[in-house]
Order: sequence, then C-alpha cells, then structure tokens
Amino acid sequence: MNADIEPSIETTTVAPQVLLINHFKALKLPTFAREYEKVGADCAREGVDYPRYLLRLCELERIDRERRTMERRIRLARFPVTKSLETFDFMAMPTLNKSLVLELARCEWIDKRENVIALGPSGVGKTHTALALGLAACQKGHSVGFTTAAALVHELMEARDEKRLRALQKQLTNVKLLIVDELGYVPFTAVGAELLFEVFSRRYEHGATLVTSNLPFDEWTSVLGSERLTGALLDRLTHHVHILEMNGESYRLATSKKRQQRNAKPNIAAEKGGTNP
Ligand code: ADP
Ligand code: MG
Repeated sequence: MNADIEPSIETTTVAPQVLLINHFKALKLPTFAREYEKVGADCAREGVDYPRYLLRLCELERIDRERRTMERRIRLARFPVTKSLETFDFMAMPTLNKSLVLELARCEWIDKRENVIALGPSGVGKTHTALALGLAACQKGHSVGFTTAAALVHELMEARDEKRLRALQKQLTNVKLLIVDELGYVPFTAVGAELLFEVFSRRYEHGATLVTSNLPFDEWTSVLGSERLTGALLDRLTHHVHILEMNGESYRLATSKKRQQRNAKPNIAAEKGGTNP
C-alpha cells in the first residue's frame, strides 16, 4: 500500500480537510478541492442527497477540465490574435458563401480530413476567417496549428539545418488542422518549396489543411518555382476541398474610408453652422 495514503482517516490526527485536499491534488481534481465545501454547504441547505452532491462536484470538475483543455489547445495553436465568426461581417463580403463558412465552423470537414482554401486579395478577411475556423476547431476538441507559409518554410529550413526535420514533420502531420496563412506573398527557394510540398503531401488524407492565398491557382507556380511541384501540391490539396472565394474591396480600406467620411461630417455641419453631429 502507498505510504502516502496511510494512516487511515479513523486513526490519524490530521484534519480530514487536509487529507482531502491532499487526495484531490493526487487525483488531479482541482475543482473538487476548490468547491467541495461550498457545494457541500449549498447541498446541506437545499437538502440534496449525497449522490447528487457528488454529481454536482463531478460536473463542475468536468466543465472546468474541458475549459482548461480548450484553453491549452488554443495556446498550442499559436494564433497571432483571436478572431471569431461572431465579429465577421458577412454583408461586407458578398462573394463569400456564408452558409458554407457556417457549415465549416461545425468542423465535420476536419473529421473527414478535407481541406479549405480561401482565395482573394489583401484585406478581404482571409486570415480572419482562417482564425475563426481554427478557434471553432479548438472549441470542438481538435488540435490546431496556425502559421504563415513563410514562417513555416523558415521553420522547416531551420529544423533541417539542425537535424530535427523529422520531428517537426511529424508534429506538422499529426495536428488535426493545420492552417497555412498567406501563401503567395513570399516566393520560396527550391528547397523551401520541396519542404512545404512534403508537409502537404504527408497531410494528404491524414489531416485537414486550411490554406489562404492572395493568388489564384494558376499563379501558384510563381511562389513554388516549379510547375511540376505546384501541380502535385494542388493535386493533393484540391482533392477534397472547399473553396472560399473572397473577392471584393479590402475591409481595412473600406472601414478606413468610412471613418474618414464620418470624421469629415461634423466639419461640414460646423461649416454650415449646424449643431447636430
Ligand atoms: P486578409 O487576410 O484577407 O488580408 P484580414 O483577415 O487580415 O484580411 O482582414 C483585415 C482586417 O479586417 C482584420 O482586422 C479583420 O478582422 C478585418 N476584417 C476583414 N474582413 C472583415 C469582415 N467581413 N468583417 C469584419 N472584419 C473584417
Ligand atoms: Mg491575411
């Protein structure tokens, strides 16, 4: 028998509260430790029986544990900022298929190891959508990795030089959803493109991948260098794919224009001698 659990409660002089806290810690039940007295008092007042008292504590522990796991998943995903679909204005992006995005937020495509490619010029909300879908995936219990194409290639090259490429490849393969943002802004060297191809190739039918790009498919060769490689990469990526077409005016530009117009209005009113804002 474990020496830590002896002597029994009956024979010890140590207060049961102290022993309980000890056991809760050993059993990794922090919510039990924090709540058992308060919930006990509530249950006594309400005349709730022992099984229901235990049930309440178990439920609290599980809710807390799920929250902690989710927060850990979000930290591990390394999102540069947190964005959700709740703050996404679909009216501002009429070319985007809203029902498809909402469907994707349910994450069944991740279980099916499918891919998503968001295409469109700068500022139209590709990264926002990718971050929101990544967050939804974390909330649904999937492991997620977020990176930009340039950072990923840089990381792969570094890992290769330091002889730990295999470990990184494994990590990149095993994550349930890999988000590769901004493919197209920075062209890669031949080695960089090969390494990136290998990531997509290993993930093919193994895990879900989300790529955002400012370039239409027929221009991907300009960043990947080789036509053969681009063809093979697109072949894998687009086999089971949902395309998000995001063509329109930059949201950044549109909002800054609106802000300028708003700022200009009081001046006009002031010039006319009006008092209303
Ligand atoms: P992209 O990745 O396509 O260049 P971003 O996703 O970075 O664009 O969007 C630029 C900024 O505008 C971000 O702060 C983003 O949250 C915001 N944004 C873009 N589109 C929308 C939208 N439809 N509704 C709300 N915010 C948006
Ligand atoms: Mg972006």
